[in-house]
Amino acid sequence: MTAGSPARASFVTPLAAELADDLLERFLRYAAIDTQSDVDSTTYPSTAKQLDLSRLLIHELQELGLADARLTEHGYVFATLPGKADAPVVGFIAHVDTSPSASGAGVAPIVHRSYDGGTLVLPGDPAQVLDPADTPELAIRVGHDIVTSDGTTLLGADDKAGVAEIMAAVAWLSRHPEVVHAPLRIAFTVDEETGRGTEFFDLEEFGAELAYTLDGSGCGSLEVESFSAKELHISIRGRGTHPGSAKGKLVNSVKLAADLIAALPRDTLSPETTEGREGFVHPARIRGTAEETVLTFLARDHDEAKLDEHVALLQRLADDVERREPRARVTVDVEFQYPNMRRAIDEHPRVVDAAVEAYRRVGVEAVFEPIRGGTDGARLSAAGLPTPNLFTGGQDYHSLREWASVQDMAAAAAMLVELAGIWAGPAAPPA
Ligand SMILES: [Zn+2]
Repeated sequence: MTAGSPARASFVTPLAAELADDLLERFLRYAAIDTQSDVDSTTYPSTAKQLDLSRLLIHELQELGLADARLTEHGYVFATLPGKADAPVVGFIAHVDTSPSASGAGVAPIVHRSYDGGTLVLPGDPAQVLDPADTPELAIRVGHDIVTSDGTTLLGADDKAGVAEIMAAVAWLSRHPEVVHAPLRIAFTVDEETGRGTEFFDLEEFGAELAYTLDGSGCGSLEVESFSAKELHISIRGRGTHPGSAKGKLVNSVKLAADLIAALPRDTLSPETTEGREGFVHPARIRGTAEETVLTFLARDHDEAKLDEHVALLQRLADDVERREPRARVTVDVEFQYPNMRRAIDEHPRVVDAAVEAYRRVGVEAVFEPIRGGTDGARLSAAGLPTPNLFTGGQDYHSLREWASVQDMAAAAAMLVELAGIWAGPAAPPA
């Protein structure tokens, strides 16, 4: 240690310290594999390169003795770590893909050992700076080992932190057969970032009675409540003509779409003006010509009734377009995306209680945060598999400044080992 550098932060428990090296090695290995998904693709998985990581994971799981590890026809990795016979089967789930929001190719992670509390300038693009002054989560992690990309790509902690934590926990349990734990079913999914992560997830084949996704963020967050989500496609058909002879004939759908956007509330009901449990309508995409313009809206709220109000508002705005310009034809398609997972999880309070207890055992206090988005667990919970979302230690997801603390990731891996033990204990009857 050089003079003036802080002491390295310690790990939450001896188990976390023991897991840290294997965990970090795995994380760096997985992060280097490009697994970016693609929202515009029509294939499943959306990109074949996601399976490069899936296949590596199958190989590693088999080496750990999980002989049934296999790739399903849709690209999910499923594997079993047998456990106490009469304990409920517990699922641990993470996703291999990374967000399309920034490049995931050629990721070159940097480990900033014993973070000194200063700004971290990422060398590949010095404009990418992690400044503790505007990142309180970083400011309180002096002494932690902080992992970033070089600033030109995502780090991919979302969700390779979750993948590495599950793998490190499974590796440790497989090396310690004397430790009593529940039977574990492991799943590594694809295409979470495109919103299609569980489209072909076979709950019966998975066979877990309850599950957890490792796809949350900062240390301590425990997510049991997501948005309810709908997507709307508003199509405005005008009438295209040659602009040179358009007088009295042209009905320009681009202008009609602009009117609709301009009629949205300015100070409320948008992602940029809301937080916590406030919902929104969000024009996410517009494409068109004078002839036809299609607007894609995301409607989000934690409350189903309010979500319906947001959808009704957009329907009214669409109707207004037709009323003002009767020659236009406006259609609104509403697509259900996912429900708030809260209701399904509330029916299984022990699933949340066990997670809170696992957090406590690694010295982490559970902080309940409503997700302003979705998670694979939202659809799984609605389909009958209660699946809260646990922390991974990753931060600033979907950005070039994404980072993760090794100490926090090790805490998450240790927490998983504890959780597997809790479900084998007398205090945990079937969910
Ligand atoms: Zn994720």
